[in-house]
Amino acid sequence: MVKWKNMRQSEFFTRIERNAPKDEVTVNAALLVRAGFVSKLMAGVYSYLPLGLRVLRKIENIVREEMNAIGGHEILMPMLHPKNIWTTSGGWDKIDVLFKLKSRTGKEYALGQSEEEVVTPLVMKNVSTYKDLPRAVYQIHWKFRDELRSKSGLLRGIEFFMKDMYSFHEDQADFDRFYEVVKNAYLAIFKRLGLIAKVTEASGGAFSEKISYEFMVLTDAGEDDILYCDLCEFCVNVEIAKQKKGAPCPKCKKGALAEAKASEVGNVFDLGERFTKAFDAAFIGRDGKKRHPVMGCFGIGISRAMGVIVEKYNDERGIVWPQSVAPFLVHLIALNGADATQVYTDLQTAGIEVLYDDRDLGAGEKFAEADLVGIPYRLVVSPKLKDKVEIKARSEKEVKNLTVQEAVDFLHS
Ligand code: ATP
Ligand code: MG
Repeated sequence: MVKWKNMRQSEFFTRIERNAPKDEVTVNAALLVRAGFVSKLMAGVYSYLPLGLRVLRKIENIVREEMNAIGGHEILMPMLHPKNIWTTSGGWDKIDVLFKLKSRTGKEYALGQSEEEVVTPLVMKNVSTYKDLPRAVYQIHWKFRDELRSKSGLLRGIEFFMKDMYSFHEDQADFDRFYEVVKNAYLAIFKRLGLIAKVTEASGGAFSEKISYEFMVLTDAGEDDILYCDLCEFCVNVEIAKQKKGAPCPKCKKGALAEAKASEVGNVFDLGERFTKAFDAAFIGRDGKKRHPVMGCFGIGISRAMGVIVEKYNDERGIVWPQSVAPFLVHLIALNGADATQVYTDLQTAGIEVLYDDRDLGAGEKFAEADLVGIPYRLVVSPKLKDKVEIKARSEKEVKNLTVQEAVDFLHS
């Protein structure tokens, strides 16, 4: 794994903006743009700047660790697809968000919006009998969707970052077993990201009669409406709900259903044999007969999760990153002409990720920017503090004066 680069703010190639951008209506985009994490190219399409890329990579790595832990094999599939695989699945005509391109020679292509069409033949090429199953592969990559509304910043991109895992099983029972494994991995991921995700029953999408499960985080910035029990874990998307707000919970019978706005950070689909039949991707079963595997599709919106984290973790001064995904652990600030190079080196030697504000600016300006950027700990070096440093958590008011060694010990604890 590449070692994270620590940074001096004087070397940044972008500036932090004092004012909120005029064209962003959501908290996540306004804060992320102002604080220099992302830059908008057009609605629904953003560049990730060094600060933002660090956050994206941290989320990605948490997801990767948990996918590897349940036996997922990481791959990278093309984003540019030939038309024929999309006509085979029926998606060319059925999927309204599919981007279609024509080359100068008239050849037609699609951009990946989900990749069952690529992964099904790819995996099944290497499966002959039930002994080769189950299989689970995943990628963490860009997706393209011709979304009608992209006004929610990172929550709804036209181009966005997704983890998509696909699994292949000899029968429904094995899919059901794996579904439970993935569900637990998802809950672990969202917990590590600082998000509480409710497992929500929802429709199975364009191709399926079955219900799917969405992982929903309550936030007013979300675009889904859910009904959830105030006592147990029952949760349903209003798009398929048979109940109304205030009705008794159908599961525990004790609680009442409350309605809330939520954002879908993950989704799992039981695809059945839809794609394996469409591509005639088969194996020889235990009974010696030809069978089509039951397939699962498991998505996590990596860039959307980053936006949702910002929606949940902010205050009137800016972002308040959870430590697990913060771009750095420490924001080191030199004041009144102090040179904090030694402290910067000491922190790095101690394995602490640090952003060093070495610019010649006043305390007020530096503190305001640090609060906007939202790194978990602010560490100040100033002649006034003599041989001590002042440490303050972004989420708290209280400051402590410590020696550098004490500060390192505190940060490691
Ligand atoms: P939505 O209902 O929000 O459009 P979806 O059901 O189309 O989502 P999936 O096809 O299941 O989403 O994609 C997997 C995950 O990718 C979603 O759970 C979500 O977190 C994320 N995602 C989907 N569409 C977008 C988008 N336009 N921008 C950012 N993330 C997205
Ligand atoms: Mg969608």
